[in-house]
Parts: sequence; structure tokens; C-alpha cells
Amino acid sequence: MNIPFLEKPLRLEIKRGFKNDAVIGGLHSFILNKIEEIEIDPAKREKIKEFFKNYENLEPERRKHIIDSVIELLNPRSEHDYSEPGTKLSLFSLSDLFIPVQYVKGIGPKLAALLAKLNVFSAYDLLYYFPRDYIDLRNLTKLASVGSGEQVTIKVKILNLSERKARLKILTVLCTDGTGYVKAIWFNQPYLKNVLKEGEVVILHGKIQFSYGSWEMPSPEYEVLQEGKETIHSMRIIPIYSLTQKLSQKILRSRLKRALDIYDSGLIDYLDERVMNRISLLSLNEALLNIHFPEGFALLEKAKDRLIFDELFELQFLLGQRKLEIKKSEGIKIDISQKEINQFKSLLPFDLTEDQVNAILDVKEDFASGKPMNRLLHGDVGSGKTVIALFAAFVACKNGYQAAMMSPTEILAQQTYRVAEKLFKKAKINVALITSGLKGKKRKEFLIDLKEGKINFVVGTHALIENEIEFKGLGMVIVDEQHRFGVIQRSNLKEKGKIPHTLVMSATPIPRTLALTLYGDLDITEIRQMPKGRKPVVTKVFVEDDRDPYKLLIEELKNKHKGYVVCTLIEESEELELQSVQKRALELQETYLKGVKIGILHGSLTSDEKKEVMDKFRAGKFDVIVSTTVVEVGVDVKDATVMIIEDADRFGLATLHQLRGRVGRADIQSYCLLITRNPNEDAISRLRILEKTNNGFEVSEEDLKLRGPGEILGTKQHGLPEFKITTLLRKKDLELLELARREAIDLIQGNVVWKKENVNELIKILDKKFLGKSSLIEVA
Ligand code: ADP
Ligand code: MG
Repeated sequence: MNIPFLEKPLRLEIKRGFKNDAVIGGLHSFILNKIEEIEIDPAKREKIKEFFKNYENLEPERRKHIIDSVIELLNPRSEHDYSEPGTKLSLFSLSDLFIPVQYVKGIGPKLAALLAKLNVFSAYDLLYYFPRDYIDLRNLTKLASVGSGEQVTIKVKILNLSERKARLKILTVLCTDGTGYVKAIWFNQPYLKNVLKEGEVVILHGKIQFSYGSWEMPSPEYEVLQEGKETIHSMRIIPIYSLTQKLSQKILRSRLKRALDIYDSGLIDYLDERVMNRISLLSLNEALLNIHFPEGFALLEKAKDRLIFDELFELQFLLGQRKLEIKKSEGIKIDISQKEINQFKSLLPFDLTEDQVNAILDVKEDFASGKPMNRLLHGDVGSGKTVIALFAAFVACKNGYQAAMMSPTEILAQQTYRVAEKLFKKAKINVALITSGLKGKKRKEFLIDLKEGKINFVVGTHALIENEIEFKGLGMVIVDEQHRFGVIQRSNLKEKGKIPHTLVMSATPIPRTLALTLYGDLDITEIRQMPKGRKPVVTKVFVEDDRDPYKLLIEELKNKHKGYVVCTLIEESEELELQSVQKRALELQETYLKGVKIGILHGSLTSDEKKEVMDKFRAGKFDVIVSTTVVEVGVDVKDATVMIIEDADRFGLATLHQLRGRVGRADIQSYCLLITRNPNEDAISRLRILEKTNNGFEVSEEDLKLRGPGEILGTKQHGLPEFKITTLLRKKDLELLELARREAIDLIQGNVVWKKENVNELIKILDKKFLGKSSLIEVA
């Protein structure tokens, strides 16, 4: 039996849309049966068997990849013979380009120093220093048809140069294009005399104006044409780069062109050709050439697509690899008994919701698996994620390990500490708090206790990942509000122990595709339900009206409830911010909040000061907290029922939603009052979205529609690495993200085969780019 015998059903499968029905009984069982009888290289046979093992359970898109790969394998001309080196003649690997930029022809030490200011250090950085804009200089205008004041590009011959000394040196160059005359005029640029010569043909670009009876172009851009040489600065779409002092567009442009001429056409392209064809991406060298010197705007877009795909694919590949590595490594195996679960439950003042119970079962399963847990707990603000973290910590501590929980702010760390200490007292678990405020002798004691294992559960801020901190046996790592940290801290804390379990928590309501980008290396547990008895927060927008919201606040205070006022100060320094919060608090004290006990919360307070303010607030010594957004994450005071946000239009909806989550944390009716002094219709209707829904996911979807994913991802709060070109702002980027993710997963899981040299090249580049492939630290 020969290969075509298999090809027919494979083709039919494609035709019928990958439904696994090209053969009665399923294509997969047909192939698995027949493959044994086919005359074929045994290695290929094994590979094909592997491909079809799980075929029936896959989505059509994944099946398509498999069929493509198998057809390729069956092809007698297939290049997938690992013993043969590739036939493509390539000179440079991208990874060869991580050499100092001075080594590029035409770049001396002076220029290298300037480039360093642009963060261009290597030849690679130079090729990947993308333009910020483009100007289309393809269309030449004739002087006979120009209008005064227009921006034009003209091709002219130099007739005559004359220099005049007034206050400035003025060089006037008379030119013609055969349909008219123009004077190009430059000031104080004596060297131009040597560049522009009579009889030469130049391209001039700039503003043209009619003045005293003749056409003039003051200080135009110019390029002297040389026979047989292509232009760099004119007669094409030219790139515009972000510059630094003393560096001109012309210099950078010409050096980049030279670098591209040297490297570009000989670059090895790691991307599998079938992937390139399937997604219709440009090759790497076409993409690099067209991102700098686009042949047309359509090609420019395609160049962007390819380079964005690369960035996303590389990230997905790294995350996927990390996931695989974790899955392969050994974890701390603990079989959690029902008794332990019950014991934990008995410590709680409430019953768990169904989603919380399921989350606990996920944790239990992870502990039992013998592999390190690597899980994201995702749930809206107030859905009760902390309890799950405490459960994981409880189990680790009860079984002789230490647990650590990292929070993004001191206030939150203090709060978690308070809750944990109270809860765990009965269970004889020793809880400690570490923040940057812990200094001197106390800190030393803490370090010793932690190292000796006297502390079972440590709660803290960034201070937890400092080098000095040593554990006796860290078994469980929890990262709260993970989106605040990014990938970097995720791995740092983990390296403190011997592959402990990791649970990260986030409320960022981002669309699924984006979640997969951020958390591609994690398993995900969702908490969708809110605890019983919660009343949705009533949200109201007030346009240029302070009085009514504060009236409502006073009413609530009369009912023995409490409130927050968040001022959205945008000041240059923390000190100025502090002053502004104080000033606003004072104003309020003298106007709407006479006789009300006001506490002030601000980022520049020490951790003890913050704690004191929150403790007093909790104890009722303050009725109202006036604050910057430091109260944004996690703060939990149950009888706080009013959240007033001033100048709410200055915030993204996601942040406002987080702030709103500070109230409504028990069964008392709560209010979120948004004040805006901006009468702009769009701004107001955006805020009104919050009036309509309390669901974080819906809020983010609306935000997404209004502002695009880039805005939601913000700049700092998302934990994504810094991309060179990806912004995730275009709809196309999200599609590319999904495609990149699938390709990366397929490659990692072996669902597709790439040429060996391509994979090697990919790994080589990632190694260079991220300094060692297993650590993703540098990605962030
Ligand atoms: P988040 O998910 O935003 O971190 P928290 O874990 O801080 O939310 O929980 C919010 C509040 O709800 C806390 O005061 C917590 O004690 C309370 N809570 C959590 N789970 C339940 C439950 N099952 N029933 C009642 N209250 C709960
Ligand atoms: Mg929380």
C-alpha cells in the first residue's frame, strides 16, 4: 500500500471542514489502522501516529494544522528530513546581530553614543528601531502646477548657487524642472555649498511659496540624485524616526538603509513556511525592509503584521515553555483530607459559595498532583478570593511548609495580615508581616524567625522578594492582585524555594484572549458568584454637582456607616499630591463635612502611618477617608458604604470599578458617587456605563468597545513585557495574538513539526533576547 492511499481521505477531510468524517468510523481510526500497512519511513509513521492519537478530541482549527503537517510529511519531496541541513542559503541569524552597533559598517563611536540614547545598543536593536511615522514622497509635482503655501516634492536641476552674508549666511540655489523656476534658500549651512553643485539633479521637499515674483522654498529637505542609485530620502515612502539631539533623520535613515542592505536579505527566518503561508505573513526580510522603507502602504501594514506576530509568538512560546517546564518538574505532593478542609471551614465566619468550594477543589487537586501548582484565581472585586489563598496557605503550613503572600500595597498587606492572624490563631499557624517599613532589630529578628521556620505564613509587599529573605521550606506562594506586578515578580518569589506551589490572584476583567496572553503559563480558576446577600452598589454620576453626593454621604454617616472620598490628583510629585489631598480634606471639612472625623491616606505615608489611619477608620475614630487611589486595591472595610470619586472622568472604567469595589462588601446597601466637572458628552456617557452594571466583565467589555484593548491594558497595570511594535490597539493585533498562541502551543505540544533548523533558530533568538531561555524575568 502506498502513500496516495492515505492522501485521498486527508484531502476529503479538508474539503468537508475537518469534522473527522472523511471516512466512516472517523478519519483518526482509519489512519491509525492503515498507517501500519503503508510503505513509509518508520520515523514518519511514528510521527503520524502521534498526530492522530488525540485527533478526534481537537477543535477543527487544530485538526487543520495536523492535516497540513501530515500531508507535508507524506510528501516525497518533503524537506522534513532531519538528517539533511536546510537548503536555504542564509548568512545571518538574528542572534548573530546582538553585537555592538559600532560593528555595523558606517557607524562610528560618536554615532553609537547617540544611538545609545535611543536604547539602540546592538545591530539587532538598530534593525528593530522602527519608525514612528512615514511621509509619502512618491509623487513629484511640476513647478507649473504648484500653488503657494503647498507642501511639494519636486525634482529639479541646479542652475546656479549664490551666497550672501547678512546677519546669517544665506545660500540661494536657483533650480528648474523645465516647467518653471524655484529658489531654494538655506540659512547658515555653509557645508551645503559643497554638497549641492551646479548641474546636479536634486529632489526638494517642503513648503513652496510665491514671493516677490518668484517661487521660493525656505530650508527644504533635499537629496542629490546619483545615477543608478536608489533614493533614500525622497521619491519613496520615507521613514521618520524618533530622534535625539544631534542625530538627524537623514543620518539615521541612511545608516539603517545600509544595515538593511548588509543583513536583511541574508537573514534566517525562523518562522515555518507553512505558518507564513497559512496566515499570509511576509518573510522576515521583507517585513524588516518594508517597516523601514515601505514599497507601499499595504505592504507596510503587512510588515507590521509579521513583526507583531513574531513578538506575540515569541512571548506565547516562552510562556508555553514555562508551563511545560513546570508541568514536568516535581512539586510538593500533599493529599488534602476532608478533615483538613472541614477544619479550615470551621475557622470561617461564613459559608463558602459554590465557586469558592470549586476553587478549593482545584487547589486540592493541584496539591495532590505531585506537580507544582501554577494557577490563576480570577474573580471580580469582592468575590472572595482571599479565602482561597488562605486555604492554600493553611494546607501548606499544616503540612510543615511555609507560605508567603505578596500584595501590591502596604495597606493591603496589612489587611491580609490582620485577617490571616485572626483566622489562624486557633489553628496554631504563626503569621508575620513584612513591609519596607520593617527595619533594624525587628527586621533582623524577623529574618531569623523566617529562616528557622518559626514563622509559618508571611504576608508582605515587594519587601518579600528582596535577596535577604530566606525561608526554611517555602511550599506555597500567593501573589495578590497579580496584574500590578507583572511577570518579573511572579518568577522571582518562586525562586526562593524549591518549586513551591504558586497561586496568583487577579480581578482585572480582561477579555479571554488577553488573559491568555498575560497568563499563558497558568491554569485558570474562575470565581463568578458573589457571596450571598450582597446588594449591588448603587452607582450615580453627578455632573458639576458636589452638594448632592456629599449630602448622601452625611446621611449614611448618620446611619453609623462610613465613606471614602477619592481625589484624582495628577501632580508631579508625591509631596505635591500629599499637599493637595490635605488641602481638599480641609476644604471638605470646612464645607460639606463639618464636624466629620476625616482621615487622610496617601502613598507617601509610612506603612505604620497607613496602618494607623486604616485601623482608626475601622474602629470608627474616622468616619471618612480622603485619599488618593491607594485605596484602589483590595481594601476591605465592611461598614463603609459610600465611595465618592471626584473628577471621575480622569480614570479608566476598570480603575473606577476597582474603586467601587471598596464598598458593598457586606449586606448593607452601598453607593458609588461619581463626580465629574467635565461636561463632555462622551466622558459622561462612559461613566454612565457604571450606573448600568456592577459586573466587572461587562464594564471591561464596554470599555473595550469605547477605547480599545490598549487602553484597558493601560501602561503599567497589566504586567505585559515591553513590545517594540505590538500595541494590541488594532483589531488585527488581537487576531494575530490568537493565531500566534495557537501556533506556539502546537509547536510546543508537538502537534506540528517545524524544520529542525527553524526551531533551533527560534530558540537561539529567544536565548539572546531574553538571556537564557528558562527565565522569563527579562521579558518583563
Ligand atoms: P476579593 O476577591 O476582591 O479579594 P475578598 O476576598 O477581599 O474579595 O472578599 C470580600 C469580602 O467578602 C471579605 O470581607 C470577605 O470576608 C467576604 N467574603 C468572602 N467570602 C464570603 C462568603 N462566602 N460569604 C460571605 N462573605 C464572604
Ligand atoms: Mg482581594
